[in-house]
Order: sequence, then structure tokens, then C-alpha cells
Amino acid sequence: MSWLAAFALLALLGCAFASAAATPAALRLAPGDSSFPLSPSLTYWHDTQASAGVEQAFRRAEAGAFAPLPGGNPAFGFQSGAYWFYLPIENEQPDEPRWLLVQEYALSDSLDLYLRYPDGHIEHQSGGDHAPFEDRFVRYRHPNFRVDLPAGQRVELLLRVQSESSMQVPLVLYSPKAFAELMRDAQFSNGLYYGIVLALLCYNLVLWLTLRDASYFWYLLHTAAFGLVLFTLNGYGFEYLWSNSAWLADASVPLSICLALIGMQLFSRSFLDLPQRWPAGNVACLCLVGFFALLGLASLWLPYSVATPIASRAVLVGVLWIITASLVMIYRGYRPARLFLLAWALFLTGTTAFTLLAFGILPQNFWTQNGVQVGSALELLLLSLALGNRYASLREENIRIVQETNEKLERGLIDRTRELRTTMAQLGEANVQLREYSRRDPLTGAFNRRHFHEALREAMQARGSGGQPLALLLLDLDHFKQINDAYGHLAGDDCLNAVARCLEEVAQARGGLAARFGGEEFVLVLPGADAQAALQAAEAVRLRIQQQCVDSQGHSIRLSASIGVHTIDGGQTVSPEDAIRLADEALYRAKREGRNCVRHSISVA
Ligand code: GH3
Ligand code: MG
Ligand code: MG
Repeated sequence: MSWLAAFALLALLGCAFASAAATPAALRLAPGDSSFPLSPSLTYWHDTQASAGVEQAFRRAEAGAFAPLPGGNPAFGFQSGAYWFYLPIENEQPDEPRWLLVQEYALSDSLDLYLRYPDGHIEHQSGGDHAPFEDRFVRYRHPNFRVDLPAGQRVELLLRVQSESSMQVPLVLYSPKAFAELMRDAQFSNGLYYGIVLALLCYNLVLWLTLRDASYFWYLLHTAAFGLVLFTLNGYGFEYLWSNSAWLADASVPLSICLALIGMQLFSRSFLDLPQRWPAGNVACLCLVGFFALLGLASLWLPYSVATPIASRAVLVGVLWIITASLVMIYRGYRPARLFLLAWALFLTGTTAFTLLAFGILPQNFWTQNGVQVGSALELLLLSLALGNRYASLREENIRIVQETNEKLERGLIDRTRELRTTMAQLGEANVQLREYSRRDPLTGAFNRRHFHEALREAMQARGSGGQPLALLLLDLDHFKQINDAYGHLAGDDCLNAVARCLEEVAQARGGLAARFGGEEFVLVLPGADAQAALQAAEAVRLRIQQQCVDSQGHSIRLSASIGVHTIDGGQTVSPEDAIRLADEALYRAKREGRNCVRHSISVA
């Protein structure tokens, strides 16, 4: 019997030894420390069916079936089922019997904390955003639990987590004093962040209301929606906005992300002026906006664990697209795109860090956990700066364009005026020439009959009542037809030219006017010449014609002319037509009386 008892004792001892070896070592809350991150000592078990009860979980933990966190990292990415975390704790600080367990991730759905005391009794507390916010031990944005740890006792901590959000369990045990200090720092830095967001919102709202530039409106939408995303991720959404709605706590994340994505695409589209400067990019941008809008609508029905990973990846797609569009616009010489690119690169860095944390790729630390806040605060500030920069550069461009247009207009005006002046001068010259042509005879260049009539009328008017006498001499070449017949028409033309020059010289010498009356007939007006002077002049003309010899076409041609004279005495009034008629009659008489002679109209009557 005794050997049997000894064997049984040995077996029992063996079991006890085996069990003690597998059970994880207790976390000792050594004096001097007031906060203890649990991740390094925590063990976990993934209950894929989410079917195990608390007793079963405790049994498994005791049996050593729980594993340490991979690499000490409490982020597992999006997972189904339930996760159990186990850690025995021994408090070595008699002054601190009460501690606070904080799950420093706001989005977990359901948390169940079980504390088993040495006497075997188990205490249970619930948390997470599927439990009402009021039930939290401390009204704080992160789920938290009261943990009573009597000094010197080994208390086993077992936490069950089930969530559609990313499985992240960054647990920290705080003394009440340490927690108060943490809260103060966290509230300060978050207040600073939301203060920046709010200030940018107000500032840009005023700018938008003043400038009415669409870019500012889309910036406001993007900033407001993005602020909401972080407000939700930080747990403030659940704390202040939808404390009692588990549905909104879940849906708000993908919804606000989609809204921020739409805002950021439309903002980029307007900022980079894609419709004008890059139509293909504009179409791509609108397609993305359509996709984000559909995703936002779908997230109302899709499970959180489906919608949120897509929305998180869409952030990367959206930002990568904006960076691509910015690079294209920089390449195309659009200067405001440079600061814009820097802003989004900073945001991308922060968001990438956070996203990689959500998928369990990066470890949890200050920069990964606050990557989005830091990145986005810098991004929002830089974007606001970029908006101002863009406004200034567009204004400069406008001023330059207006100046260039004005200069061009002025240059054009000067050119046009110069052209107009030249044209007017040419027109004037042409007019003078035309007038000259219209009063000259094309063959001889002497004044023509029209001009003669005008000149005669003017000369008669200029005499006035009781004024100067005026003489009219009508000249016809004798037998000119024969000259044409004998020497040809070209020779006849030369003769006509010679007579015209002769008459012009006489007219010029006596202050009169010579004109071709038609054919081989010429007329001479001599203002101030009485009958005697007129007859004298006519005789002089006749003689000159008779004496001159016209050399043309190899011939020496001699001419003679018959001249009819009519004089109007001072005080006498007669119409130009009558004066011509009377001179013509005198000419006929000269012809009748043998040609090559001068006859006066007085002797005609
Ligand atoms: P009369 O002594 O009676 O005046 O005789 P005439 O031959 O001069 O008179 P008539 O009126 O018969 O002829 C005039 C001629 O003048 C006829 C025409 O050929 C000539 N004639 C008229 N105009 C021109 C012209 O422009 N050039 C030339 N070469 N001849 C012209
Ligand atoms: Mg004639
Ligand atoms: Mg004649």
C-alpha cells in the first residue's frame, strides 16, 4: 500500500511540476514602477470558433497552450474568432492595491476581463465600443478596467477580445497616479492636434467665404472629414458623439474615411486645376471620387471587417494618386504643386506607418500609433500654406497676364495707329494724285477741259463787280488732219505736246492758265488782259507756233494755228458759256479768213 501511495504522490508531484513549468511566469509589479506594458509577458490563444468559455480558457492557459505574442507585438491585423490573453500578476507594492488596466486601442468591439484570485473566485468586467460608454470604469476614450491586486497575491488576468476591427491589444497596467499623468499628456497632445485642425478649419472657412475659391471649400471638407476619422480612431467619436451606438461606432470609421477621401480628391483636383491643365488626370480623379462614394455607401451594409480594410487601402491608393498627379503637374511647370506634393508625402508617411501597424506589419510605438496625427497635422498645415502660396502665384500669374495683355494691346494700338497714319498719308497722296489726274489731259499733261471750266468760273468770280478785265483765247491748229495723215498719229501727238508746252509758258509768263480744249484745240485764260493785251498775246502765240519746228519720227514739222479772242471788260458780266461761244465764233472767223491769224469777237459782231 505504501509504495502505491508513494507512486501516487510522485505522479501528483510530477503533474504539479509539469503544470508549473508550462504556466507562464507571473508579472511582478516591482516597487518603483507605476506603469507596466503587458505585451512582453502576455500569452495568447486564438479561439478561431469563438466558442470557448472562460473555464476552458483558464484550463488551456494553465496547461501552457497559450503562446507568447509574436515578437512581443500585440497587433494581429484583421482576424475572425476570439483572442484570449493570459497573464498572472503579483503585486509587490503594498501601497498600491488598486490598478487600472487600459487597452490603448479605441476600436475593439468586445473586451471581457476575468480576474481569478487565489481563493478561486473570478471577477468579470466588460468593455469595448459594443458596451455603453457609461459602463467604463474611468470615462476615458480607451477601454479600461479596475484591477484590484492585493499585495503578495498571485492574480490571474484573462482577457477575451472579439472585434471586427483590427485585432490590436496594447494593454498597459497603470497605477492611478501614472494613469492620471498619462491622461493629462494624452489630452494635451490630442487637444493640440484638434486645436490645429479647428483653427485651420476656421481660418480656411473665412478665406473661403472671402475668396470663394472652390479649393478652400474642398480643403474644408477634407480637413473636417479627416478630423472626424481621427476623432473616431482616437476613441473620441465613441466618447462624445455616439456613446450608445455600436453600429455607428463601427460604420463611422469607413464612412468618415470615404468622406475624407472624396474631399481630398476634389481638393487636389481643384488645387492642381486638373480640368484645365490635365483633362486625362481630371477624368481619373473623378473616377476615384465615384469609387470612394460607392465604397462609402457600401460600408453602410458591408461588415466592418470588410469595409474598413478596403477603405484603409483606398487611403493609400488615393494618396498615391495625388502624389502622381502632383508630380505630373510639377513636370508640367505648375509651381504650386511642389508644396502640395510635400504635404501629401508627409501624410503618406504617417498614414503608411499607421496602416502597416493595423495590419500587424510594423510594431506598435509612438510614431506608428500617432503617425496619422503627426503626418496629417503637418499635411494640413502645409496644405493651408500651399493654398496661400497657390493664391499668391495665381495672382502673380494674373497680374503678369494682364500686364502682358495690356502691353500687347498697346503695341498693337501703336502699330495700328502707325499703319493707319501711313495709309491715311498714302490715301492723301493718292487723292492729290487722283485730283491731279482728274484735271490733267493724259496725252499732253496740260489742264483738261473740265479743269478749264472750273478755273474760268473761278477767275470770273474773282474779278468781282467793277473788277479786272479777262481774256479768253481759243486756238485750233490748222489742217491738223493732214499732219496726222502725212506723218502719222505719233508725230501728231508730239506736235500737240509741243503746242501745249508753248501755251503753258505763255500762260505762266502772264499769270494765266492754258488747257487742252479737245482734239487739236487749246484754250488760254488771261486774267487782267484787256482786248489789246489779249490780241498781243494771241499774236505772240501764233508767231511762236508758226516759227517753231517740231522734230518727230524723223520729220521736221511746221505748224500754224488760228486763234479766236474774246475779252470781258472790267464791270462787264457775261456767262462762261457765252464767253466761250464768242471766242469760238472769233476762231471760226479766223479759219474762214485764211487761217494762221487772230480774230477778236468784237469784230465778229
Ligand atoms: P482745220 O484747219 O479746218 O481745223 O482743219 P483740221 O484738219 O485741223 O480740222 P479737222 O477738225 O478736220 O481735224 C482735226 C484733226 O485733229 C482730226 C484728228 O485726227 C486730229 N486729232 C484730234 N485729236 C488728236 C490727237 O489726240 N492726236 C492726233 N495725232 N491727232 C488728233
Ligand atoms: Mg478742230
Ligand atoms: Mg484744226
